Amino acid sequence: MMELVLPEHLAERITELYARMEDDYNKVAGALDFSCVGCPDNCCDSYFQHHTYVEWAYLWRGLRMLSDEKREKIQKWATDYREKCRQAESRGERPQVMCPLNEDGLCILYAHRLLVCRTHGVPARMRRPDGQMLRFPGCFRCQELVDEREKTGLKTPSVERTSLLMELAKIEQELLTYRRDLYPKVKMTIADMILEGPPTIPPHCEG
Ligand code: SF4
Ligand code: SF4
Repeated sequence: MMELVLPEHLAERITELYARMEDDYNKVAGALDFSCVGCPDNCCDSYFQHHTYVEWAYLWRGLRMLSDEKREKIQKWATDYREKCRQAESRGERPQVMCPLNEDGLCILYAHRLLVCRTHGVPARMRRPDGQMLRFPGCFRCQELVDEREKTGLKTPSVERTSLLMELAKIEQELLTYRRDLYPKVKMTIADMILEGPPTIPPHCEG
């Protein structure tokens, strides 16, 4: 099957979008005086699945910048990751396994890390297409901080995710040439994305 190549202009838009996410995150974190420094936890072992071809393709841009040796090491960690997740799920548990891109507590592909990695932590909100507003309280440490602040009457700032996710959806549509419905749905962990190789175009969408 043909690779679904991320064109340069869409890669640039993703880079800009990720920068906006980071900026919005930092503004809220700054207003709350919140950071991950000193946290006993490491959120890179949280279990997440990801849903866009564009993030999958962008992650592969990063993976290709690594040496073959490093990539092979990561592929091995990704295989271990999948096996540990499978074992946890067979016990009826939600997996909690360190991400195969985390080495000694740091992200190997920090510049290419996914949306979830950039938004988890501080409070956020998002308006669904049906108008309902969803609210995300942030991580447990941030929630403790917010509770203390609110007791003193301080308002809680939050990241407005709606426009960020709309832009991601637009870039996804452009990458899939407005034929998203013809593509299989993506529901993958980062380990899956590493082990499956870069995304491909299904034969019925080629041409
Ligand atoms: S996001 Fe929250 S829980 Fe996760 S590492 Fe940062 S402070 Fe800790
Ligand atoms: S991609 Fe990087 S930031 Fe995201 S979970 Fe993996 S190691 Fe952590």
